[in-house]
Amino acid sequence: MMPTCPHCEVAIPYLRISFADSFRCPGCGQWLRVRRAYLYLLTEYWGALAISVAASLLIGFRGDVLFWLSLLGWVPAWILVTLFGMLLFPPRLKVSKNDSDTRTFTSLVP
Ligand SMILES: [Zn+2]
Repeated sequence: MMPTCPHCEVAIPYLRISFADSFRCPGCGQWLRVRRAYLYLLTEYWGALAISVAASLLIGFRGDVLFWLSLLGWVPAWILVTLFGMLLFPPRLKVSKNDSDTRTFTSLVP
């Protein structure tokens, strides 16, 4: 499943989407951006830690080994959670007025 433009409904490949800034739809040229709530879903660190601990417990690790392997497995679990989350729940896009509404700083260069 790929995200679609809310303006023209064309499917937009992941490589064309910017998660940090606004971007133009390849179909209609409308400025779009990823909804902020979706970006919070991508930072599901604690869920990934829970998966890492659960996987270590299921394998049979206990004690100090459980602690350290859960920490080591945290980052790979977070990557897997993020990738599967993006595949199962594609980003919801919204129309943006232009590329300047996502900037949170003032440029010193005109
Ligand atoms: Zn479009």
